[in-house]
Amino acid sequence: MKNRAVFTLRRGKEESLDRFHPWVFSGAISNIPTGIEEGDVVAVETFDGRFIGVGHYQIGSIAVRILDFNDTEIDKSFFAKRLKEALTLRKSLRLDRFDNNAYRLVHGEGDFLPGLVVDVYGKTAVVQAHSPGMHYCRDVIAIALTELEDLEIANVYYKSETTLPYKARLDPVNEYLVGGFDSNIAKENGLLFHIDWLKGQKTGFFVDQRENRALLESFSANRSVLNMFCYTGGFSVYAMRGGARKVVSVDSSAKAIALTSANINLNFPDDTRHKALAEDAFKYLDNMASGEHDLIILDPPAFAKHRSALRNALRGYQRLNAKAFEKIAPGGILFTFSCSQAVSREQFRLAVFSAAAQSQRRVRIIKQLTQPSDHPINIYHPEGEYLKGLVLYVE
Ligand code: SAH
Repeated sequence: MKNRAVFTLRRGKEESLDRFHPWVFSGAISNIPTGIEEGDVVAVETFDGRFIGVGHYQIGSIAVRILDFNDTEIDKSFFAKRLKEALTLRKSLRLDRFDNNAYRLVHGEGDFLPGLVVDVYGKTAVVQAHSPGMHYCRDVIAIALTELEDLEIANVYYKSETTLPYKARLDPVNEYLVGGFDSNIAKENGLLFHIDWLKGQKTGFFVDQRENRALLESFSANRSVLNMFCYTGGFSVYAMRGGARKVVSVDSSAKAIALTSANINLNFPDDTRHKALAEDAFKYLDNMASGEHDLIILDPPAFAKHRSALRNALRGYQRLNAKAFEKIAPGGILFTFSCSQAVSREQFRLAVFSAAAQSQRRVRIIKQLTQPSDHPINIYHPEGEYLKGLVLYVE
């Protein structure tokens, strides 16, 4: 075994790890080795001394995130191998094309790299660390990204100010680790988007709605579309291309509305079908005339960031969806989403069911949506499923 600190599990606590679940909970551990620091690479063993895996140590309920179930050195060649595997999947999904260069290259546990997210926008990769261990590996990861064959990454922007645990006191700085700013216009299914990784939310764009946006396009012809919680206006731009009669984009953030307008102008300059408004969603729906829209998208931010907020979140989804059911035109289509990981598919569906029942309208589910193929779910880590959506036909 390589020379690193060893965590010993309590007796019998290896069951989920033997089934390749990558998290070691603090309650499963019998010792904290002396001299260990948060972010260190450590080994994990069973009570009887059987090797389990190597991973990053972190203070909190998840003590170790397993990076490899083999006794591997966590160095540049480890990251190079994992990144290459991640890229191979994206290539086989044909996400790297002349008309599409925005996609998620690394989706944490889904790409066997717990704590790491990498989104690619053309020649720029935006890296987010969610664990101290990945924070310490950031330079190695950045170099490995630029050395990937079959992918030309010239700039690596590190953006972890809001994703790392505050208590770790790492004081991460958002900065370019390689290169610098060049074009921030990326292509998604032939549409152009300004990606603001410097000031925008997450990595600057919600790549996770790409497939659902494409589906929305196919429903948009001649419809009057309301894109609620529009952020960069992704759904709006697709609705415009799909032949919508009218598109209204709403977000409470003025910055988001400016981004949406810029993205509409980039693809459909001087097109008067589109209007963008900075307003609160609930207020807008309250004041909206009944029947004004026959295609509504509700894609709110995560209402439950943690389990403790679950009840309030479910009430929030119900309240929001009830307003849409009350106002949508007969024959209308509602795309409704939850990106809260703490809310299960069944719980979300039940909240939407309650909202539908409240409206007394006939409602049918015509599609059930999830996260796209570049956000894979490690089958041994079902917690990786977070995006849930329903497409509903409302009479
Ligand atoms: N649908 C978007 C992503 C939505 S992110 C896409 O496809 O890219 C959630 C957005 O909701 C954020 O832009 C945030 O500013 C906005 N938001 C949060 N609370 C809001 C509220 N009460 N009313 C309107 N918008 C809100």
